[in-house]
Amino acid sequence: MSSPAPEAWTPDSWRSRPIKQDVVYDDPAELSSVLERVARLPPLVSAPEIDRLRAHLRDVAEGRAFLLQGGDCAESFDYCNPEAIEDKLKILLQMSLVLIWGMRLPVVRIARMAGQYAKPRSSPFETVNGEQIMSYRGDNVNSIDPENRRPDPQRLLSAYFHSASTVNYVRLLLDSGFADINKPEAWDLGHVRNKEIRREYQAIVNGLTDALGFMGVIGAADSHLPALNTVDLFTSHEALLLDYEQALTRPVPKAQWQKAAAAAGPGGHRAYEPATPPRKQLAPELCDWYNLSAHFVWIGDRTRQLNGAHIEYFRGVRNPIGVKVGPSMEADELVRVLDILDPDNEPGRVTLITRYGAGKIGEFLPVHVRAVQATAHRPVWCCDPCHGNTTTAPTGHKTRSFDAIIGEITSSIAIHRELGSRLSGVHLELTGEHVTECTGGSQELAPADLPNNYQTFCDPRLNYEQSLDIAFKIANVFRR
Ligand code: PEP
Ligand code: MN
Repeated sequence: MSSPAPEAWTPDSWRSRPIKQDVVYDDPAELSSVLERVARLPPLVSAPEIDRLRAHLRDVAEGRAFLLQGGDCAESFDYCNPEAIEDKLKILLQMSLVLIWGMRLPVVRIARMAGQYAKPRSSPFETVNGEQIMSYRGDNVNSIDPENRRPDPQRLLSAYFHSASTVNYVRLLLDSGFADINKPEAWDLGHVRNKEIRREYQAIVNGLTDALGFMGVIGAADSHLPALNTVDLFTSHEALLLDYEQALTRPVPKAQWQKAAAAAGPGGHRAYEPATPPRKQLAPELCDWYNLSAHFVWIGDRTRQLNGAHIEYFRGVRNPIGVKVGPSMEADELVRVLDILDPDNEPGRVTLITRYGAGKIGEFLPVHVRAVQATAHRPVWCCDPCHGNTTTAPTGHKTRSFDAIIGEITSSIAIHRELGSRLSGVHLELTGEHVTECTGGSQELAPADLPNNYQTFCDPRLNYEQSLDIAFKIANVFRR
């Protein structure tokens, strides 16, 4: 029996569906006026950039590239400063260099950045000093300060401007040669003490510099290669607060229509249309809807109910999208999620971000891979080795062990290989700073070291050195 045709999608059709992890504001009028304001502000990214990422993720799904996605668990408004942004960019660039060199594949970089403010929580309340208060839901909802947990709609506006400022600084850095391989700012190792890492990393940089020098001599560098002085870096966040996401969801003329308009030539439609023309000018059948708050958005493991508001919202946007997949996902449920989100079977339209835990991946991943292999969907398979491996240290700190993280990645690679599938990406919670939030790695951080520089507002992140360690480990496993 064929399933009934889906009902028409609109940017607000999610409102008729049950919603999880919702935020309730005590002043709905204030919320509405903030949302109206956000809806009039310019987009943060463009539809052509999003289309470029779609094309890259198709390559990833088809095995021609690898995906590296990473950043903070909860981005704070305070991280919107030059040093924090540069450090994050630097670690992602260095990790991607190690991966490209080791795997001999292009790497698509997506930062959990410039909008990763909203957090789902396991409990809406927490107890602080014997008092029950609302949990911290991310800087775009309430404050980390226990005295200030009331959801404040003005924080949504603030989130927009912090995202804009972060995106602007990333663009500025990349446009002004921050990622130029010939310049040291982004590529020099920081205070990495481990000799083996220093040696391996330097060997890559030397090898690359030699290769580029050679191509320069034979005149190949200028004519045949894409620009070597910059890179693509895409932004992403969990699209949890649908009110906000809707306000940045804009109609964009369909590519086909643009082509037809161009072909019509003078006297026909104009060939060029601005990224966000006023809605009234566009008949709905002539436009696609893009979430212009980020290039890539994902649905968390707690909000991916088949009949829920989030799946409904996501199915209508053209952005490439992610779905977190944990142990509670049934195999047939996963297939139905893909049927809804990827009705055209477009390779890379959906990235499945699996996060089971090192001890559970063997039970769940094979079932999920086989179920998807039996369909025509070709998602990107990406491993999030962080969220299933969170524990509490004797000091009371939320932490993750480096070995469990590596364990889940290596199991994921092996299981995919065994089933004729392919792990095509990793999704990591990391920071470019020297925090002490996860144990292990080449620095051999012990549980007793955690209090030394524990900074996270939410989940524990891999620090700079641990992140580089991971990149080398992945590159080495793929090289074999
Ligand atoms: C996250 O990525 O920070 C997160 C909450 O993950 P998950 O939805 O997989 O639990
Ligand atoms: Mn997290």
